[in-house]
Amino acid sequence: MAALNKKTVDDFNAAGRRVLVRCDFNVPLKDGKITDDTRIVAALPTINKLIGEGAKVILCSHLGKVKNGPNEGESLTPVAERLSEKLGKEVNFVSDYNVTGEAATAAVAAMKPGDVVLLQNTRFRGKEETKPQDAGEGFAKELADLADDYVCDAFGSAHRAHASVAVVTKYIRAKGGTCAVGYLMQKEIKFLGNAVENPVRPFVAILGGAKVADKLNVISNLIEKCDTVIIGGGMAYTFARAKGYEIGTSLVDDTKVDYCKEMIEKAAKLGKNLLLPVDAVITDHFPDPIDDPSIATEVVDIDKIPADKMGMDIGPKTRAIYEDAVKTAKTVVWNGPMGVFENPVLAAGTKAVAAALAATTATTIIGGGDSAAAVNQLGYADKMSHISTGGGASLEFLEGKELPGVYAADDKN
Ligand code: AMP
Repeated sequence: MAALNKKTVDDFNAAGRRVLVRCDFNVPLKDGKITDDTRIVAALPTINKLIGEGAKVILCSHLGKVKNGPNEGESLTPVAERLSEKLGKEVNFVSDYNVTGEAATAAVAAMKPGDVVLLQNTRFRGKEETKPQDAGEGFAKELADLADDYVCDAFGSAHRAHASVAVVTKYIRAKGGTCAVGYLMQKEIKFLGNAVENPVRPFVAILGGAKVADKLNVISNLIEKCDTVIIGGGMAYTFARAKGYEIGTSLVDDTKVDYCKEMIEKAAKLGKNLLLPVDAVITDHFPDPIDDPSIATEVVDIDKIPADKMGMDIGPKTRAIYEDAVKTAKTVVWNGPMGVFENPVLAAGTKAVAAALAATTATTIIGGGDSAAAVNQLGYADKMSHISTGGGASLEFLEGKELPGVYAADDKN
């Protein structure tokens, strides 16, 4: 695989060098407090390796979507504190909203080997988020000016050709520096890459979540690669419509009905199993608030959804079929909840899938996002072979796309 032909942190000597490391510190926050530090913990091996080697370690990351410009609520301050605790050493946080510039330059100039500097949220510089063709060239150069070498360890952002993820490599390389991937990137690529390119079979993919449109390419690619593809969540109802069923007021994407028909045909032609829900948990409205536990539910067969009801979770018959498919699998990849799992009354399908994955000896790979959150909440995290830190990135990887954050690193000689 091309991805594994990339230079890693083990392929260059970072002693005394200023190494810019793009991490994914995009952690969930509530009232300014970090509620899940998985991504910080996942970044530690690369950071510790560079510290141990005597590099000057300059860290950067985005946090949140930053729609309304720089603000304290999306500052990396809580990340700096948690990171410092985890590393057991001081992290010099440059809180300047400009990210690069005088404050950052001065902090880097004062570094000794083994020191750690954390720059401010990269998205405070709007250009970070622009399209590939004009992806913050100026900002990328300013980042590169702070460092000699660059390491991308931000798997969760690796599918974006942003200034700090990909464009920066052009300027590091131009001055003779090394561009490599970190240990987290290596680990993610190893698990996801092996699953897709070299799976122990039967290979089962479970896809859920709200929209078919988000998962078009991944469904198509996984039908080719897997033995069984299981569909749940909101997108299952567009498939149900494609089969000609009444789906009431369930989530549907009318523009994708033909696509779903094609996928059903494609699976049949290739002799693959495409498992769709046979029953559903229905309600008469979408819960508001989403976790309202008093919402009334009923279970019906998938072709019996009344015109005024909506499908909100897979039903018990479907759960049993999906559990069986997981039991006989040797490799399972899961992305996306089976229902509106935020609501305790509509979470049984998602919980059943999580429990089935936790119980199997198969290689189990959780594709980030909501499925990772569900697995963590249910206490199954240590039962899975790999929980990806990147939702969108793992999906694009499963689609068979080359990730810009991987692609931008130097090839191994
Ligand atoms: P995604 O971001 O595409 O992975 O979708 C995750 C969201 O899909 C979660 O917030 C779920 O509540 C939602 N979801 C799952 N099943 C359904 C459903 N049957 N109807 C509406 N939304 C759903």
